[in-house]
Amino acid sequence: MKNALVIYSGGLDSTTCLFWALDEFDEVSTITFDYSQRHSIEIEYSKKTVDIAQKIKNKKINSYYFNIDLSQIGGNALTDLNISVPKNRNEKTMSSEIPITYVPFRNGIFLSIAGALAEKNNISNIIGGWNMLDYSGYPDCRDDFLNSFEETLNYGTKKGTTGEKFKILSPLLKMRKSEIILFGKEHKADYSFSYSCYMGNAIPCLECDSCILRANGFKEAKLEDDFLVRLKKEQE
Ligand SMILES: [Zn+2]
Repeated sequence: MKNALVIYSGGLDSTTCLFWALDEFDEVSTITFDYSQRHSIEIEYSKKTVDIAQKIKNKKINSYYFNIDLSQIGGNALTDLNISVPKNRNEKTMSSEIPITYVPFRNGIFLSIAGALAEKNNISNIIGGWNMLDYSGYPDCRDDFLNSFEETLNYGTKKGTTGEKFKILSPLLKMRKSEIILFGKEHKADYSFSYSCYMGNAIPCLECDSCILRANGFKEAKLEDDFLVRLKKEQE
């Protein structure tokens, strides 16, 4: 029996991973973090996507939720409300430096907790929507980091040293945003409740880096954004 744990924020990339995982693995679990992010609304939306995914794939998903208050560390625009989220930047500017939306070692922290949960439940595959192209500024989204963390998990756990080894899978790592969307659609991804905006309001701002990358991705894929289509219908 192949099982997997998806690190699942409810955003576009992790939603794509979830739908892919449901096709690839017999048993799928998700782990979602409330880390006092500005956009914690994504957690409520993520639950709706899990419901939809279970219906579409006719498969039960085991969902886990964790609270870790990363605002105690702060120093970035996602967990410190006094730091502004950059707006209206083009993709070139976005990738020119590590942005202020970088949350210190967030993926390392998430992977540690995901690893511990996976060890307890004897889940060998940990999946995440990390991407090197769109977020070239985030050091904890790179293959070097993910490969070394996989090794770390296998060195530092009972499961890794005496049982089946961990694998960290990053199917989206080298895809453009449009390729991620098209890949998701091949796996019947429904993005109606997948939320990407850093601002955290019910209606996406369409100006932050995350909104802009998403909009460019749908445009390049020549598709309408399911989330915006749903909003429009609800407003009619
Ligand atoms: Zn936004």
